Amino acid sequence: MVSPLHSNGHAELQRENVVSAFGDLASRPDLRPELLLKLTGKLQTTLDLNQLLEIFFTEMQQAVLVDGMVYQHAELKLRYSIGRQPPHSASYQLQTQKDYMGELVFYRSTRFREHELANIEGLLSTLVFPLRNALRYQEALLAAYRDPLTGAGNRVALDQTLNREIELTKRHQQDLSILMLDLDHFKLINDLYGHATGDEVLKAVVDCIGRCIRQTDMCFRYGGEEFLIMLSNADGAGALRIAERIRMSISDLRFDTDKGPLQVTTSIGCAGMTFEDDKESLLHRADKALYRAKHAGRNRVICDVDEVTVV
Ligand code: GH3
Ligand code: MG
Ligand code: MG
Repeated sequence: MVSPLHSNGHAELQRENVVSAFGDLASRPDLRPELLLKLTGKLQTTLDLNQLLEIFFTEMQQAVLVDGMVYQHAELKLRYSIGRQPPHSASYQLQTQKDYMGELVFYRSTRFREHELANIEGLLSTLVFPLRNALRYQEALLAAYRDPLTGAGNRVALDQTLNREIELTKRHQQDLSILMLDLDHFKLINDLYGHATGDEVLKAVVDCIGRCIRQTDMCFRYGGEEFLIMLSNADGAGALRIAERIRMSISDLRFDTDKGPLQVTTSIGCAGMTFEDDKESLLHRADKALYRAKHAGRNRVICDVDEVTVV
């Protein structure tokens, strides 16, 4: 089903009707059957979400000219943007009876007319099932690289990403820093509040880290209650600042448990990449800094280079 939801900006789309795939349209679209057939065929050629959306965007121009298109799926943290985003827009929530499949917004510098909106709805009906398949494929791919409990990247993802990032950083002579983060006395939390609460804490910590870092930075679960955060384009000072923000935000988290309120603290080791570094040496230096943070009394950030300590 394609459910037009609302219009943004100055667009005039305001519909409550729900149209199903290939029919039941309130105002009939004037789409040539050959076009729909060709589009359906092309959409079936890929499971790659990005490619699928690009095919749709390119092919739809034959029926309705649009300047840009944005696809978003908040839950899956997906966002693809194609073309420009002038002021007129029309938004559609995409849904089958079972699955929510995200939102598509079309942009144009001139207003959308009624028959054009009907045409867009007609075109969208061909996208629904290929999009569902692409999303399932995307989810399977993500699952292979994600820690199932926290949603952070797993070790496989870490190995691949860090190797690639180190190479790119050297090639472009940019900065790269990593943070090794370990929850303090976590065994005690499990022992006192139970394993399920421990799990909740781990999830909340990863969410909290996500709110403290930029979209281009990444968080990986390195071990049980240990996380690695990769900060692209961050020098030592920048990394230290982000590490401190993370440390404080985590210590501000409050957990209501049946055994009373709970707070957690973290120790963080910070290492900036040098030209001689490879993955192992960089990880080793962050790990050493973390070790020092633990031994200096926990709940603190220590940077490997200048042994700066922020308490
Ligand atoms: P330190 O401050 O020195 O880091 O002490 P700690 O207690 O955090 O460190 P330790 O390595 O002794 O204990 C880590 C604990 O983390 C033990 C383990 O049961 C727990 N843990 C690891 N993975 C998970 C998980 O997925 N869920 C829960 N609830 N606990 C986990
Ligand atoms: Mg620990
Ligand atoms: Mg640990």
